[in-house]
Amino acid sequence: MELSWNAEGDWEPFCTQAAFEWQTVRELAAEVLQRDLYTCHRCSFRSRPSRQVFSGYMQLEAIGGDYDVRDPQEYVTVCPFCHANRHLQWALESGNFRLIAAPWISRLEIVTVTRALLSVITQLEHLYYAEAVQLYMHFEKCEASVATLIPVVPTSKDTREENLAHFTRLLASVVDESLYPNRDLYLHPLRLLPKAKAYKQESNYWYQAVYKSYPLSKWEKMLAWKQERISEQ
Ligand SMILES: [Zn+2]
Repeated sequence: MELSWNAEGDWEPFCTQAAFEWQTVRELAAEVLQRDLYTCHRCSFRSRPSRQVFSGYMQLEAIGGDYDVRDPQEYVTVCPFCHANRHLQWALESGNFRLIAAPWISRLEIVTVTRALLSVITQLEHLYYAEAVQLYMHFEKCEASVATLIPVVPTSKDTREENLAHFTRLLASVVDESLYPNRDLYLHPLRLLPKAKAYKQESNYWYQAVYKSYPLSKWEKMLAWKQERISEQ
């Protein structure tokens, strides 16, 4: 049993099976990705394939949660960040994400904003490089507030990541339905923040494939929106 999120904020139990061979996955992936035009089913981000990166760093999500099914109709294209929200435990245990408390931004928004920020962070020469770093660091700082929002984080593990992963595992195994409202209460303000280091390659790729052509006005608009939101906190 795994724990996952949907964009609206509810938590759902989620089951997965073992994956199948790489060749089959690749053929299946190519079909689904092309059908969906490399567009994330959840956040609508559209990537682009290349000779080196056939997937454009997009992934497949099994609609019914069963990754053994080989029917393309059972899959949708998702970006790695939206996919992580569906496999929360994996996301935390992989070490590629931080768990932050940021109730002022939705899970869907944080996916969109952080991907754009991370892509700029890979471009030292970008006009808004410094601003992007600053805003990303603001998200990182929200990690500290997780402990105050979750007073029951266990302390039996060595690292903070292990503790949080353990915590979500415990919550996932709660079968008593009367406890579900409490679980949502604790987890409602939490968001996954992709780590810049873990997604350096993807971010650079997405910058070249997608964001490079963004006009500066679009970046300005995004940065202004973010400043507004922070000051409302
Ligand atoms: Zn997405």
